[in-house]
Amino acid sequence: MIRPLALSLALLATAACATAQPSAPMQAPPEGPVGGALMDIYTWLHAHPELSFQEDDTSAMLAAELEALNFEVTTRMGDEWVRAKAMRDQGEVIDEVGGYGVVGVLENGPGPTLLIRADMDALPVHERTGVPYASEVIDTTWTGVENGVMHACGHDVHMTVWTGVARAMAQRSDEWSGTLIMILQPAEEIGLGAQAMIADGLFERFPVPDYNVALHVSAGHPSGTVGYSPGYALANVDSVDIIVKGVGGHGAYPHTTKDPVLIGAHIVTALQSLVARNLDPQEPGVVTVGSFQAGAKHNIISDEAHLKLTVRSYSDETRQLLLDGIARIARGQAETFGAPEPEITVESDYTPATYNDPELTSRVMGVIAGEIGEENVVQNTPVMGGEDFSQYGRTDEDIPSLIYWLGAVDPETFAEAQDSALSLPSLHSPFFVPDAETTIETGVTVMTAAAIDLLQAE
Ligand SMILES: [Zn+2]
Ligand SMILES: [Zn+2]
Repeated sequence: MIRPLALSLALLATAACATAQPSAPMQAPPEGPVGGALMDIYTWLHAHPELSFQEDDTSAMLAAELEALNFEVTTRMGDEWVRAKAMRDQGEVIDEVGGYGVVGVLENGPGPTLLIRADMDALPVHERTGVPYASEVIDTTWTGVENGVMHACGHDVHMTVWTGVARAMAQRSDEWSGTLIMILQPAEEIGLGAQAMIADGLFERFPVPDYNVALHVSAGHPSGTVGYSPGYALANVDSVDIIVKGVGGHGAYPHTTKDPVLIGAHIVTALQSLVARNLDPQEPGVVTVGSFQAGAKHNIISDEAHLKLTVRSYSDETRQLLLDGIARIARGQAETFGAPEPEITVESDYTPATYNDPELTSRVMGVIAGEIGEENVVQNTPVMGGEDFSQYGRTDEDIPSLIYWLGAVDPETFAEAQDSALSLPSLHSPFFVPDAETTIETGVTVMTAAAIDLLQAE
């Protein structure tokens, strides 16, 4: 919903919570450093991580920031979608989850429309960095797993850069013309937040962007640098569950059973042939069996075995080839052993591959090179990780999109790792510490320059 702009900050922060749940008692505004220095915003976000679909304080604090900059702000985007999904998947509505998406619109004369996205959620990772502002939060994921919570994917950096860009764009409004849409997305880590916002009318209730742009911190680039991949940059991510059906019995009388462990082992082995022998060697693909669970005891042959797979690809054709192949192999192997047909489930909410529009990529990288020097802008090979930012470029509106890497490793640590066999902590590691100050400063500089370049009237 769009609210009037002239309220005080404290009121607005309260309103962000209260308007979304009219029946709930008034909540105190989050004690965030609204309007404070970017490093204070960063350390606050880092110390107060919130899990996917629980980004309540984070979204309220940053919505208040946008309000103060005279953006027209809408909060709780995707709420209904999230509740419907929670109901479907978990059989009940979990009170504390929601679509905490935030959309801020700043209209500044005629010209193009640009959407800049940051993601808000943290991970169920117990922080071990030892920084003074380390997270001590323990919380429960929406699937019921209790764990420490940490911004181990650097989304706290994304939000801080996003705040800096919003401030710079509001302040430098005489340098651009058009419409700037700043969005905060919930639940990137579970691949559902972008869908929730799109389903709630992101491209219907607000101006349709001419471009979507985002960045992600990189644990493999030094701070002060930017990396990019034109075309496919990140992969389709599918999760597949195979329940191998057997006939259980005594481990000493295997001839009276159909052993699902043996059948599962054959399936795992046969699956290796998909990428090796079915896929064009020029086409990237991954089939990983990340979990194989069966049985309870040495001398019992179980009824079932459960395989959990992650499947990665770039093109829709490769994705289909791999998914069809998995089903064929699982069924075929079960049949060979005379076992019942296995149950195969492909999770419907998959994360599609991220495609960086080549023209937009080269334009933005040109601008960024002008800001930080060509030597600090590096083209990368694409990766098989996934990002649901891809969803914004795959709707009927067909919006050219770009996500680029923002180097986040302390340059000295980076150089030491290059010279030795030391491997740097990756994203999602409990030891991941971004070189926050330089990374944030670079992020704000390059994203603001890109935004000003893209927002020029014809
Ligand atoms: Zn992540
Ligand atoms: Zn991430």
